[in-house]
Amino acid sequence: MTLENTIVPESKLLYIETFGFQMNVSDSEKIAALLKGLGYGLTDSHANADLILLNTCSVRAKAEHKVYSQLGRFRGLKQERTGVLLGVGGCVAQQEGERLLKKVPWLDLVFGTHNLHLLPEMVRAAERGERRAEVAFIDAETRLDLFPPGDAPAGTTRFVTVMQGCDNYCSYCIVPYVRGREISRRSAEIVAEITAAVAAGVKEVTLLGQNVNSYGGKTDGEISFARLLREIAAIDGLERIRFTTSHPKDVSPELLDCFAALPKLCGHIHLPAQSGSDTVLAAMNRGYTRAEYLALVAALTTARPGIQITGDMIVGFPGETEDDFQQTLSLMEEIHYADLFSFIYSVRSGTKAAQLPDGINRKEKQERLDRLQSLQREFTAQRNSSFVGTRQRVLVEGMSKRGNQLYGRTDGNRVVNLVAEPSLVGTMVEVTITDSSQHSLLGEIVA
Ligand code: SAM
Ligand code: SF4
Repeated sequence: MTLENTIVPESKLLYIETFGFQMNVSDSEKIAALLKGLGYGLTDSHANADLILLNTCSVRAKAEHKVYSQLGRFRGLKQERTGVLLGVGGCVAQQEGERLLKKVPWLDLVFGTHNLHLLPEMVRAAERGERRAEVAFIDAETRLDLFPPGDAPAGTTRFVTVMQGCDNYCSYCIVPYVRGREISRRSAEIVAEITAAVAAGVKEVTLLGQNVNSYGGKTDGEISFARLLREIAAIDGLERIRFTTSHPKDVSPELLDCFAALPKLCGHIHLPAQSGSDTVLAAMNRGYTRAEYLALVAALTTARPGIQITGDMIVGFPGETEDDFQQTLSLMEEIHYADLFSFIYSVRSGTKAAQLPDGINRKEKQERLDRLQSLQREFTAQRNSSFVGTRQRVLVEGMSKRGNQLYGRTDGNRVVNLVAEPSLVGTMVEVTITDSSQHSLLGEIVA
C-alpha cells in the first residue's frame, strides 16, 4: 500500500514508502505531520527527496524482504547524492533495532513503533551526521500522552487511530511482539480530533486498531467501543463511520445494536476468520469456533440486513490437512465474502507457531491459495454484478487514477467509478450502478 504523497512548498523534501496495512498508512501521515515542523514537505518521488523513510511491516516474510531490497536500491542514490538521509521505521525497525544500522551501513536512522515522537530529534541528529536507532517500548501512560494526533491532508475521508498494539497473541502473528501491549487512546481526544476534522471538511472516518472492538476494555474508566461509536455518530456534519479490524471474539451485543441503531455506521465489517477449521482455529489461538463465527455473521446480518462481510484467510498453517482446507472453502461458500485477503502462512520467528512442525510443502500451499483465490474471484464478481441496476449512495472521494472519472464508495465499501463534475468531490450522491468488474462498479448519477 502506498501513501498518496502530495507536494507542499516546504524547503526540504520527504519521501515516505509505506508497507503493509492501513495502520502503517496512518502512521505515515503522522510522520509527515511531525516532520513538517522541520521544514520537510512530501514528495511523490524518491529521486528528488532529501529524506527517505521506509515505514515497514513484518507481518509476513515477503513484506520484510521487500524492505531489504528497497534499502539495496537506495544505496546507489545515497552514493550519487550526498546529503540524502535514509531511515527505517515500523515493525522491521522494531525487530532489528541497532542491528539494522550495522547490517546497512548507509542507513541513517531507525525508529521503532513506539518512537515516532523522537523522529524530529533523530532527523536533526542525522542532519548533523549522527546515526541513531531508537526502539525502546514505552509504558502505557506515557504512550497515551505521546499519541501523535493524526494530521492527514485535508480530504473527504480520514483514518483515525483509536488504539495501538495487541494482546491477542494469535499463534502465527508477530504484531504483539513488534507493536507491544494494547492501549486505547482517550475517547475525549478521539472525539475532539474527529470534530475538528469534520469542521475542516472530512465526511467519513475509519477508526483504526489491530482489534478495534476491544477498545476501552483494558483501560479503567474508559468507554466501550460501542459507546465510542455512539459518541462519534453524534458529531454533526459527519456522514459515515467505518472501522477496522474487528476480532470476531470481541464483537459485543452492544456493537451489534450499533449496526441496527446508527445509520452513520456503514454496512460493512472486516471480520477475519483466518480458517474454517476448528482444529486450525484452536491451534491459531483465535478464541472462537467455526460455529461461533457463523452465528456472529448471522447476528450481524440480522442487525444490518445487506451488511457486506470481508475477511482474511491464511492457508498452509502448520498441520493444516486437505480436510481442514476444505473446511475453509466451505466456510467461504457459507459466507460468500464480498472480498477476502488471503495469505500463505509465513513463519515469524519468536511466535508460538514458529515452533510447530510444518509438513506442508510450498507447492501445496501455493496450490491451496490458488484454489481459494479462484473461488473468491467468483464470489466477488457475483457480488459486484448483483449491484448492477441498484441505486446506491456514494460518497465521492476524488478523481480516479484512470482517466477522467471520479471515484467513491458505497455504504457497503464497494468502489464506484463515475463520470461526473469534479466539484462533486466530498459530496454524497445517489447513483445507479450500470456495470461491474472484478474490482469496482460503474455508476451514473441519478438526476
Ligand atoms: N488484527 C487483525 C486480526 O486479528 O484479524 C489482523 C492484523 S494482521 C496485520 C493482518 C492479517 O495478516 C491477518 O488477518 C492475517 O490474515 C495475516 N497474517 C498475520 N500473520 C501472518 C502470518 N504469519 N502469515 C500469514 N499471514 C499472516
Ligand atoms: Fe495479530 Fe491476532 Fe493481534 Fe490480529 S488479533 S494483530 S492477527 S495477534
